[in-house]
Amino acid sequence: MKNLAHKLIIITAPSGSGKSSIIFYLLNHHPLLNLSISAATRKPRAGEKNGVEYYFLTETDFKTKIEANEFVEWEMVYQGSYYGTLRTELERIWNLGKTPILDIDVKGGIHLKQEFGMNCLSIFIEPPSIEALKNRLINRGTETPESIINRVSKASYEMSFRNHFHKTILNKDLATACSETEKLIKEFLGW
Ligand code: 5GP
Repeated sequence: MKNLAHKLIIITAPSGSGKSSIIFYLLNHHPLLNLSISAATRKPRAGEKNGVEYYFLTETDFKTKIEANEFVEWEMVYQGSYYGTLRTELERIWNLGKTPILDIDVKGGIHLKQEFGMNCLSIFIEPPSIEALKNRLINRGTETPESIINRVSKASYEMSFRNHFHKTILNKDLATACSETEKLIKEFLGW
């Protein structure tokens, strides 16, 4: 599958760092970037649709795809919930002549960076503080109190991996973080 012309962008961060807002900005401004839709076993949230936010799979189907080597990477990101990037998804985007942008967790990001080397740009989005991240998760209103505790405790651990990525962007001010990320991507893709 790997082809020298096939590049990809990895955006990783602890949950609640504002990474989705930055990706939303990038996709809106750059039609040659395309979001890689992951497969996931968690339940869809209200309003989420299969094939839009995720390809929602049962755990059995997910494990069958692991066995069949259909993932370029996969992780159990939260207890009991699997997430992974399908090879067919990256190929779909490359076949459109576009560059995939991946919103994946820290461990998945490290694996893909190792696999794709110079053909990928990996960016770690850093929240200003764990407290700010907790407040963002609370204000987002999508998580249960238990899930917030889970995500915040995982965030401190994930922060320790920030130096494994090509670049780090501090998301103190969203507009600044968006334009800094955009600049890195333009340089990497030679735009
Ligand atoms: P959420 O449940 O909030 O949609 O996503 C939880 C986390 O899973 C996010 O940090 C997201 O980056 C990560 N994630 C989503 N898709 C993938 C994937 O394909 N692989 C990996 N390793 N992580 C993913």
